[in-house]
Amino acid sequence: SNANLFCALRAAFPANLDAPAILPADGPDTTHFYSWRDLDQASARIANLLDSLDLPPASRIAVQVEKSVEALMLYLAVLRAGHVFLPLNTAYQDGEISYFVGNAEPAVVVCSGKNFTWVSRIAFLAGTTHVYTLNDDRTGTLLDRASFHADTHEPAQVAATDLAAILYTSGTTGRSKGAMLSHGNLLSNALTLRSYWRWQPDDVLIHALPIFHVHGLFVASHGALLNGSPMIWFSKFDPAAVLARLPEATIFMGVPTLYVRLLGEAGLTPQACSHMRLFISGSAPLLMDTFTEWQRRTGHTILERYGMSETVMLTSNPCLPADGERRGGTVGFPLPGVGVRVHDDQGQPVPTGEIGGIQVRGPNVFGGYWRMPEKTREEFTADGWFKTGDVGRVDVDGYVTIVGRSKDLIISGGYNVYPAEIESVLNDLDGVAESAVIGVPHADFGEAVVAVLVARSGAELDSARLISHLKGKIANFKVPKRVFVVTDLPRNTMGKVQKNLLREQHKALFN
Ligand code: ATP
Ligand code: MG
Repeated sequence: SNANLFCALRAAFPANLDAPAILPADGPDTTHFYSWRDLDQASARIANLLDSLDLPPASRIAVQVEKSVEALMLYLAVLRAGHVFLPLNTAYQDGEISYFVGNAEPAVVVCSGKNFTWVSRIAFLAGTTHVYTLNDDRTGTLLDRASFHADTHEPAQVAATDLAAILYTSGTTGRSKGAMLSHGNLLSNALTLRSYWRWQPDDVLIHALPIFHVHGLFVASHGALLNGSPMIWFSKFDPAAVLARLPEATIFMGVPTLYVRLLGEAGLTPQACSHMRLFISGSAPLLMDTFTEWQRRTGHTILERYGMSETVMLTSNPCLPADGERRGGTVGFPLPGVGVRVHDDQGQPVPTGEIGGIQVRGPNVFGGYWRMPEKTREEFTADGWFKTGDVGRVDVDGYVTIVGRSKDLIISGGYNVYPAEIESVLNDLDGVAESAVIGVPHADFGEAVVAVLVARSGAELDSARLISHLKGKIANFKVPKRVFVVTDLPRNTMGKVQKNLLREQHKALFN
């Protein structure tokens, strides 16, 4: 038998290969759909092109292209040909691409035509001999070359432990690391999610996330493909356009900022969502406010889940009421087959309900960081658990709550301060839309707590008043020494707040 992930995905295609697989909702041509046969044949052509290059098995294929259905076909082709898919954020510029391509040494690089000049220069310097272009309007040399190849292809024989993809982490806490994921990692997680989220025969997914990241590429695409379900495909998120397609769909997956933007649409009503089965959120914490506002506006309760590039999905709120309520502010239960435990800095388990470092294990957990054996060793415990770098707790009833990242933890005057706790108190105050709490160097306290706030539209926030108000609500050592009001928090393309930038900006505050 063949453990190639593509085989499992292909086996889930519906019997009628002419049925719609992907319905483009924007871009050059929204009048035609892609059938399952199209996915099969186009990915075969690209896989045959890759085969014709005579690359060693498990060569890295680095891809930095705008989102398109053809880019997804390229991903399938790389799996099929037994190579390693290495997607890169479309926002990355010269310096970043030099680092990633230099670090990954891909055999093939695929880039947008508009970037060919500078990307190909970087690629050739890194020893890459094949550079193709792929644009979001079905043009480019990749498809030109592939069109000469046959539209059938026998998937390469791989073992479950063979690499399928290297995903660079989002770089929220520092330099991105390449997480090496195997066919077995990806398939086990996709199968678990298919049953945990009760994918149905008539499900239709709205796909509006980028496909260079675990959320859009794996959670969303694998979910639909492995269930033979069509996707309504947005190359860019547009709240009004997504809203208009909800009546045809049943599942939507988004990062929290997408939900916030959808809430800005007057047309978001229970009626508009009446055909929907499931709204799923992840990649960053969903504010309690967004969670409750979504319930009020749509009658649906967002299901929040937690995962990362290194592990794919780890925990999820339940799908059916029989399995429990979807609890806002939590990321639900460990998925079946996934072990989650909470340890202190000495490596001892903490009592139930207490805060510590989250460690995980399971068939979904990656093999290590690409070309970082030291880092890999550091992040696994002696007994083989992966240290996620997230801090949280598991309640008596099994719900997991994330309170922040260990790198964001503040130690002020010897006391631990968990940013998420202060943020949730701040977010509850009148006039506060959202907040980020950071620690900055302080001569007496080691670190001082500082809050950066965004005001609700029309609200005036007075820093001094906020601080005195907080003094009656939380312990003094948790109260921010300074409060700043800004128009926006700095976010990366996945909608994650970049606290390292805020820390950098305020590092000299008390010196
Ligand atoms: P880097 O590791 O390079 O600093 P990153 O951790 O942001 O970047 P990803 O792998 O994309 O890179 O993101 C995983 C992280 O996202 C998790 O470790 C966690 O901190 C956060 N995350 C994901 N889902 C949730 C969620 N539902 N609630 C809170 N945090 C979440
Ligand atoms: Mg990380």
